[in-house]
Amino acid sequence: MAQTFPDTPDAWTEFETPAQAAAAGWSALPAGNPSLSVPKVDAWAGNAVQANGWQGVNGGGLKFERSFGLPAAGSGSTLRFFLRAEANGEGSSGISAVTLRARFPNGSVYRNLVMFTAGPGALTLYVVDMDIAAATTTSDPWTTWRKDAGSGSLTNTSWSQLQSLEWTAERCRLPADLIQVDRLSFEIQSGTARLTVRALNIPSRKYLIARLQPQGLGIGMISCTLEVLDQNNAVVLRREAPLPANEPRDVRIEYASLPKGAYICRASAYRAGVLLAQGQAAFNHLEDPPWITSRTGVDPDRVVKPWTPVTTGERQISVWGRTMTWETSIFPDSIISSGEQLLASPMTLAAGIGAETHTFRLKSFRILSHTPARAVAEAVGDICDVEATARITADFDGFLWFEIRITNPKRNVTFSWLRAQVPLRASQMRLYQTFRPGADGAGAIGASPIQLGWLVNDWVANFYHWFGNEDRGIGFTFSTLEKWKPASLSNFCTFVPGSPASVYRINLIESTTPADGLRFEFGIQATPIKPLPPDYHSMVADRAFAWPSSLAWLAMPGNIDMMVIWNTDIMQGLNDPEHLNSTVLNQRVQMYHDRGVAAVGPASCPQKISPPMTPFNDFFHEWQRLPEDILTWDGIPQYADCSGATSYIDFLTHTWRNVMQTYSLDGFYFDGWLGGQFHCRNPHHGCGWVDDNGVTQPTVPVLASREAMKRFAVMMEDTVTSPYTPPLDAPERPGFPRYHYWVHTWEFVPPIIGFATEWLTGEQPYGCLYGNTSASYAQCWGLDLFRARCLSTAFGVPNYLFNGLLTEAGDPPPDDKQTWMSFAWALPHGVPQSWLVNMNQNVVKQIYSVLRGFGVRRANFIPCWRENPFFEWVSTPAREDVFATWERNGRVLLVVSNLRTFNGGAPATVRLRWKGFPNPSVRNMLTNTNMSLNNNVLELIIPPERFALIRFQP
Ligand SMILES: [Zn+2]
Repeated sequence: MAQTFPDTPDAWTEFETPAQAAAAGWSALPAGNPSLSVPKVDAWAGNAVQANGWQGVNGGGLKFERSFGLPAAGSGSTLRFFLRAEANGEGSSGISAVTLRARFPNGSVYRNLVMFTAGPGALTLYVVDMDIAAATTTSDPWTTWRKDAGSGSLTNTSWSQLQSLEWTAERCRLPADLIQVDRLSFEIQSGTARLTVRALNIPSRKYLIARLQPQGLGIGMISCTLEVLDQNNAVVLRREAPLPANEPRDVRIEYASLPKGAYICRASAYRAGVLLAQGQAAFNHLEDPPWITSRTGVDPDRVVKPWTPVTTGERQISVWGRTMTWETSIFPDSIISSGEQLLASPMTLAAGIGAETHTFRLKSFRILSHTPARAVAEAVGDICDVEATARITADFDGFLWFEIRITNPKRNVTFSWLRAQVPLRASQMRLYQTFRPGADGAGAIGASPIQLGWLVNDWVANFYHWFGNEDRGIGFTFSTLEKWKPASLSNFCTFVPGSPASVYRINLIESTTPADGLRFEFGIQATPIKPLPPDYHSMVADRAFAWPSSLAWLAMPGNIDMMVIWNTDIMQGLNDPEHLNSTVLNQRVQMYHDRGVAAVGPASCPQKISPPMTPFNDFFHEWQRLPEDILTWDGIPQYADCSGATSYIDFLTHTWRNVMQTYSLDGFYFDGWLGGQFHCRNPHHGCGWVDDNGVTQPTVPVLASREAMKRFAVMMEDTVTSPYTPPLDAPERPGFPRYHYWVHTWEFVPPIIGFATEWLTGEQPYGCLYGNTSASYAQCWGLDLFRARCLSTAFGVPNYLFNGLLTEAGDPPPDDKQTWMSFAWALPHGVPQSWLVNMNQNVVKQIYSVLRGFGVRRANFIPCWRENPFFEWVSTPAREDVFATWERNGRVLLVVSNLRTFNGGAPATVRLRWKGFPNPSVRNMLTNTNMSLNNNVLELIIPPERFALIRFQP
């Protein structure tokens, strides 16, 4: 009989003990064989292994798992092992020697393997087939199966006498000596008849999915009875649920009518009245927990700081910084952001009917409702006998959500294509960034069209596209492609560069389709989305423990916006706000507060849920993102969740509010964010849709994610008024939040993560930067990618630069070039600095002594791409030569950077003409030397990835 193995390791079931496996309906070895619980096979006992000192430390760890199935005895059958190795720690990697052995009464068969893995997140899967008949007594155990059968003989028929399977792994040998084996586990499969039941509870909707997994029950349909038993073992629900004998089946059980309490779901499979197998699983009909009724942060009418209320005029909606006007189209004719028109001509909805092109003309526009937080409008347009009705929801952050219905009551019109077309002023469109991981999908807009595909891979949907320049832009957001028919899913939207207009095209329909009944939805949001704090260009944040290498912040606490408290030693896993080490957390908070610095954290990943969370067992299936996605961290599986699960947001906002209050924190740091990282197909909280072929297609929970992120902002506004925000060096920031809501991400989606007070960029070129002492931002970033991903001005959110991959921490510091380099990039672009901890602390202190001495945080900053009133280039500069200025009280501080790579780039000879007051006194602040101008021209030579700070004063 052929063995069936799971395709993916994540589908494997793990048991801590043989008894647990048996209780879940799994068979042990064939009758007559000893149990697998012989001491050698301690792989059962993951906990015991950990107790023996195999536990990973500091988040590091190699994970090995094994799985095996027992083949039926017989010639030619083999035993298949699945082994996987996973490095849990960031950057960890290593090897481990592993021995696999099968013991029989008259000998054993074994083989040695060397397993290798590299982290983080890398997973190496080994599939090893064991064929006893092919094993020999003379072979090399490192390359082939070896048999130590003595005088006896071992053949594949010996499988029926298998006594034990063993797996032993030595402690890993690793360069960093940090990573150890942290867990061993395996499962056993046999051909014995069984019926496994899993209870997938959806508590908010009060139903259960009973997942029935038959094995060894033959083929064809079999009878199955499903029963729900209460705590007295009384059957309270019963139904017949015939199922295919060799396929899993989900059966939905509504339990709202039952009293609250604990229940068992039991399934019994019969053929011709004979019981073949029985399985069961427990579930709870819950009382509503307090966090679900508190609805923390829900306030539809709230305009979160620093935004202002939505205002409306005739055919016009205005929000902070932006005005959208309708005249001829159901889409805006005009979108003005920070004083500049973004559209070259009206945005339109156009259709191909026969050989002709028709554009929907606006027939009516009216405001349906209006609160400070939201205006709802309806725009109706028509062509021929077809009407397009757009319901437009405009929120205070300038996000416009369009829900478009196409009606053709006569049903006489067929579209050959239908597209939304956005003609954009090319002068405003130099850069783009999309929802692509890593350094992909962002940079300069070139001469060729940019084709945008819906699914990047099975995990990521490219649902957000932004185009603009250093100061403003426009973003488009998509949640579903239901009803769409683009010619290709790899080109569902297209950006076509041109002059004077570039066109962004939304390819709704590109094959013949009846017009009636079409529906589409998407969002538009011009950027920047909110005002920046006046000192955004000079903000500083860091994380530190008590390392000597991270003390630059201690030299300037008044200049530190926040210190992030890392989760190490405080929280196991990535997101478990209920279980924090209060002693350590209180100490950390006190350490920062004693110095007048905002304490933020502990760092967590809201996009992950894990078994230690109290509601996990009951709510897991309601909260999880599908397809399932697991990252093991601290030896704990961390599952991706979905913001579409409202009860999860209820839990998280409530729990984090308690953390903020209990520990007097000034904010939190999210390593990742809610919703949108991944598309989702979990129908139990409303995600996904079923296509014509019955396949569930993904959706991105855009609106739910906006609501989730807004709830955190409202919760913080109501909970935290930090006395340490802004810091002492900073000017007053009237109207700005007095808390920190910091999001670290690789992709920037302002309509969702714009509710944060701050972002953290800079990890995108991970592979180029990680552990590389020669890594240069000029090579790993380049100007275009840097400006597309790292600026604050284009989006309206302070976007700190993550220097966490630099290599110059230490006392004494090993080097200084990357530290100078980072500031050469950050300063002229007005990019706030963070993760100073990875930089040369002496250089950091030297640079900030100049910047603070001038008072840059209270100065007027002009970034390098804007016209400057104080200086002009004597001749046209190269792109890599940039300068910016701070002006304060009649004095000017100039930063000039050479952004050519320090790996062989040329020094720059810079000539800048001074246009300010006459006869300035000029001083080079980094060398502490006075300088003179020649005919008002400043001349400097700047090495690659270095900069000068020159002060001009009367
Ligand atoms: Zn979902």
